[in-house]
Amino acid sequence: METKKKDIRALTREQLRDFFVQNEDKAFRGNQVYEWLWQKSAHSFEVMTNLSKETREMLEANFVINHIKVDVMQRSTDGTIKNAVRLHDDLVVESVLIPTNTRTTACVSSQVGCSLDCKFCATSRLKRMRNLNPDEIYDQVVAIDNESRLYFDRPLSNIVFMGMGEPLMNYNNVLKAIDKITSKEGLGMSPKRITVSTSGVPKMIRKMADDQVKFNLAVSLHSAIDTIRTSIMPFNATFTLVDLREALAYWYSKTKSRITYEYVVWKDINDTQKDVDALVDFCRFAPSKVNLIEYNPIDDGEFQQASNKAIDMYVNTLERSRIVVTVRRSRGKDIDAACGQLANKA
Ligand code: SF4
Repeated sequence: METKKKDIRALTREQLRDFFVQNEDKAFRGNQVYEWLWQKSAHSFEVMTNLSKETREMLEANFVINHIKVDVMQRSTDGTIKNAVRLHDDLVVESVLIPTNTRTTACVSSQVGCSLDCKFCATSRLKRMRNLNPDEIYDQVVAIDNESRLYFDRPLSNIVFMGMGEPLMNYNNVLKAIDKITSKEGLGMSPKRITVSTSGVPKMIRKMADDQVKFNLAVSLHSAIDTIRTSIMPFNATFTLVDLREALAYWYSKTKSRITYEYVVWKDINDTQKDVDALVDFCRFAPSKVNLIEYNPIDDGEFQQASNKAIDMYVNTLERSRIVVTVRRSRGKDIDAACGQLANKA
């Protein structure tokens, strides 16, 4: 039965080489297959034309390639593309291509749904169904790279783990996917072009520091006052700001990498001088950058974008405190592809 076959991309190169040796063939066949699977992103054994028909049939009899399928592709008026990606077990996640004049960024998902419950986020309404496998994360990137070449005539330049799910709750698979994305036998991208964005899981931030990862870290902070943060991100009651800051200080002591904070300013939630002062205070322990992100309302309108005056207050206070600040306009709003909007609505 099809389902009993093993997912061939769960095998390492060494395991594939061993498989061929055990089947009385040459170990280098394993390298050939590995190249087809990762560098050439083969969807079937049939296309592996440098293997004999018998070898392809033998692979077919033992393994499956659980490749993702882009079910629906939507294009926004601003060029943003959203893919609804069907997985081998029929679950669906979303990933987004965000083009600017100078770069093309892929925003990819790491889980089906999310186990966290950020009140402002559409994904939180889909309960976490499962973690994505490394190959399912990798495939999303390859699909967007292909679209970037096709529609914008250039390869993908950056990746952010900011789609569905909390990447640090699927840490091992995210790490394996990044390994493939950055390795020569995969896409060969620089880890400096990859950002993992977390809502702030202190234990895992420390682990990342110990693992000396080379990619960038961003933290969705949204408030530096515990009561407010807990009201919009309830897991903050467990992973408090003190713990988060200690973990980030540890990260900085190990990596010396600047910390980026993602931050949305909402009307009547975090739009006062007290809020921005708390943010400045929180950031002091390490070089920091704050991305102020425009909010995209999800259906019920409980959260509303703050006024321009409040945004200006944030920008001025942060600049005076010598904290790098950018204001990010949202992209792909008309197709629900913007931050916090991914909820399989297509
Ligand atoms: S913002 Fe991120 S961590 Fe929070 S519920 Fe949404 S997907 Fe999960």
